[in-house]
Amino acid sequence: MTPFKAPLDDILFSLNHVAMAGSVTGFDPTLTAEIAHHFAAFAEGEIAPLDAPGDAQGCRLENGRVHMPEGFAAVYRAYADQGWPGLTVPEEYGGQGMDALLLAVTSEVFSGANHSLQMITGLVPGAVGVLNRFGTEAQKAKYLPELASGAALATMALTEPGAGSDLSRIRCRAHDEGGWHITGEKSFISGGDQDLSAEILHLVLARTSDAGVKGLSLFLCPSTRRDGSRNAVQVSRIEEKMGLHASPTCHLVFDGAEAELIGGEGQGLAAMFTMMNHARCDVALQGVAHAARAWDIARRYGDARTQGRRADGGAAVLSDHADVARMIDGMDAMALGGRGIAHLCFVAMARGNSPIWWRS
Ligand SMILES: Cc1cc2nc3c(=O)[nH]c(=O)nc-3n(C[C@H](O)[C@H](O)[C@H](O)COP(=O)(O)OP(=O)(O)OC[C@H]3O[C@@H](n4cnc5c(N)ncnc54)[C@H](O)[C@@H]3O)c2cc1C
Repeated sequence: MTPFKAPLDDILFSLNHVAMAGSVTGFDPTLTAEIAHHFAAFAEGEIAPLDAPGDAQGCRLENGRVHMPEGFAAVYRAYADQGWPGLTVPEEYGGQGMDALLLAVTSEVFSGANHSLQMITGLVPGAVGVLNRFGTEAQKAKYLPELASGAALATMALTEPGAGSDLSRIRCRAHDEGGWHITGEKSFISGGDQDLSAEILHLVLARTSDAGVKGLSLFLCPSTRRDGSRNAVQVSRIEEKMGLHASPTCHLVFDGAEAELIGGEGQGLAAMFTMMNHARCDVALQGVAHAARAWDIARRYGDARTQGRRADGGAAVLSDHADVARMIDGMDAMALGGRGIAHLCFVAMARGNSPIWWRS
């Protein structure tokens, strides 16, 4: 297996010279590069080596709980101890108060090193964004420090068996019974359960009235109730996904689970799309990370394998052949182009604009 090497030069070039991150107030290219090198060293040395064995072993569902592959809990602890979950959490809540631009670096490097694990940790900045924008002071004070320290991870629970692209079909319901309770099912929930963090904060889109998408509200449903018992959220299934066996994409059943309203009733879509926009940019970078990794593997193989002869009669390697070189360059171009577009979205997000439009 070709060891993972973070494409840091390309990432920083794209951020600085393609997406013009310098146009964002407060962006510090030197600090970004320094933090990027620290994260790359961690990803190359500790996260990436778990990728292939983690996929071979996969996560498993036992007695209603998800168990991650060997080594994942330890590397997550190291990730939390080094302060990576708190990058975008405001300093007053225990984080480092960085903007979304740094995530354009760490997300791609993380996905290239271990896409499965990144699917679980990568939802935290979106949850932080939602709480910052829509949470009450009490909710921020309670939940942001947990996310910053890594004690809690977050999920984004929109999709249901009958509601994918069309969220007006959501059936999951929230009832106010002197405190909100959620009942219904959610499908394809990344990190719906895991044994990495002590707490999971499920951000759930649920119906508070029958008024189509205007009847949707956003709730925070912790995996642990106020009295310390487990909340009524069960995993009934982990989806099978080729190459992502270490990422628990869960079918969740909420059975009167205790929850808190985030934002106003009926504001669910606006609040959830703050998180979705982070997730969409992240998904874009996951694609870029795979393209860059595929190029790196192909390039190194092409440079090492001797085959055929050069025009001068000497032994050639694969990449000496023009047609092979053209294909390898094409892979590089795909990664570079995709990265540039994704970085423009991160720049838009850092400026407080929505990078992706959503039509109701
Ligand atoms: C690995 C993985 C992880 C996921 N993680 C999460 C998660 O954490 N949280 C979460 O909430 N969801 C998650 N999802 C679900 C994902 O967001 C949904 O798959 C997505 O919302 C699309 O819904 P769907 O799969 O039901 O597709 P459908 O809505 O059934 O659409 C199927 C296809 O038809 C097209 N289509 C649908 N309607 C129209 C239309 N009106 N006009 C034209 N084309 C249309 C779609 O574009 C798509 O190509 C995950 C999915 C995967 C595969």
